[in-house]
Amino acid sequence: MTSWYSLPAEIVVENNLWHLVRVAGIPLHHPPVVNLILRRGLPEDARLRLSFLHEFGHLQTLPFAIVHASILLITGRWRGRGFLEVLTALMATALAHEAVWELASETYVVARAGQDYHRIYRRNPNPGGQALFWGSMAGIVILATPKLIRR
Ligand SMILES: [Zn+2]
Repeated sequence: MTSWYSLPAEIVVENNLWHLVRVAGIPLHHPPVVNLILRRGLPEDARLRLSFLHEFGHLQTLPFAIVHASILLITGRWRGRGFLEVLTALMATALAHEAVWELASETYVVARAGQDYHRIYRRNPNPGGQALFWGSMAGIVILATPKLIRR
């Protein structure tokens, strides 16, 4: 696959847990949150298709995720903090970055799959999984981002 900004990548999706996105030979590791929560109960063909789009979405939205992480790192309060405070802030930054990237990637899936996305979930409802994914990811971003940016 090639992203909109001409970055080539290899994407492999095989089952609920196993997926791979590799850019220039470097694997982009991220937890299978979406596959476990959001695709629960979907037929295999729909699950694999949406999972593939999600992984491609990570590639397509990588610049947005990098900008978000950069803003957090540049504007973060780092001076005058103890080691544990800096470590905690770095972990919170990584968590907020991951949540933003998951939201951006799944938003890409919704846009790309269009009506198919809604049809798949109408036929295979997973309201708990959808509420858990969208609610928790949005919650992390909304709660963490303002706290991490220096006032
Ligand atoms: Zn993801």
